[in-house]
Amino acid sequence: MYEDGELTWSVIPEQDSLYFAYFAPYSMERHADLIADAAASPLVQTSVLGHTLDGQDMDLVEVGYGSEGRKKIWLIARQHPGETMAEWWMEGALGFLLDEDNPVARQLLDKAHFYIVPNMNPDGSRRGDLRTNAAGANLNREWKDTTMDRSPEAYLVREKMQQTGVDFHLDVHGDEDLPYNFVAGFEGVPSVTDKQLQLLDRYQMTLCALSPDFQREQGYPVDAPGTANLEKCTDYTAETFGCLAMTLEMPFKDNADLPDEEWGWSPERCRYLAESCLGALAQMVDDLR
Ligand SMILES: [Zn+2]
Repeated sequence: MYEDGELTWSVIPEQDSLYFAYFAPYSMERHADLIADAAASPLVQTSVLGHTLDGQDMDLVEVGYGSEGRKKIWLIARQHPGETMAEWWMEGALGFLLDEDNPVARQLLDKAHFYIVPNMNPDGSRRGDLRTNAAGANLNREWKDTTMDRSPEAYLVREKMQQTGVDFHLDVHGDEDLPYNFVAGFEGVPSVTDKQLQLLDRYQMTLCALSPDFQREQGYPVDAPGTANLEKCTDYTAETFGCLAMTLEMPFKDNADLPDEEWGWSPERCRYLAESCLGALAQMVDDLR
């Protein structure tokens, strides 16, 4: 209850410990289970890109039949570790891709190879940070000039991207303020092309048609030409690889266009949104280049 500037709870706990959280937590134990469950699929190859400052693994999950001749799709989440909805989204994405009865996933994997980093910031996740890693760095301001001393998470993923190439990139986040799902693009990068902007428009249009939880009216102001911050992952990726790159933002509380009085925005809805995001990709995977 919120009254006179005080937020209070009245609860009879069923167990000796409980969480109070702005959004459903996503523990490192659950992250380990996510990686282990994915690794059991014949479609998956897991690897460790390197280690964080606290010595944790940077897990990469590759999904597909090999990258040769296929589009390279990068999905990353939780650069900001407190934005746990981003890893719930990843559960949905992996569930979708690994369902061998799903015809859309099967067709997509015929054409695309996936590089997935379900948790970009294991140290911040374990420490309970909202936005930073063990060195206090905001990883989404560390892409152009990243170093192993300060932001090994961004450094290691950037190295791998340079090896694989990138045809499509989605960086998944949550926004504390705006009660909507929306995409932020790369309009302000120096080398932006009409083709990239057309893909950005088409992706959002397609996702709107697939998910009532996605919209385009509300979002961040668009950068003026040439004013992008290339330390941000999406801008860095769009500029470096000339591809469609986007930041997906989800709400903490709810989607104001389709509110759920009891649960608000929830892990289940994150998973459904992930499925729609991959559905939208499936409709344009042939045209990414
Ligand atoms: Zn964020």
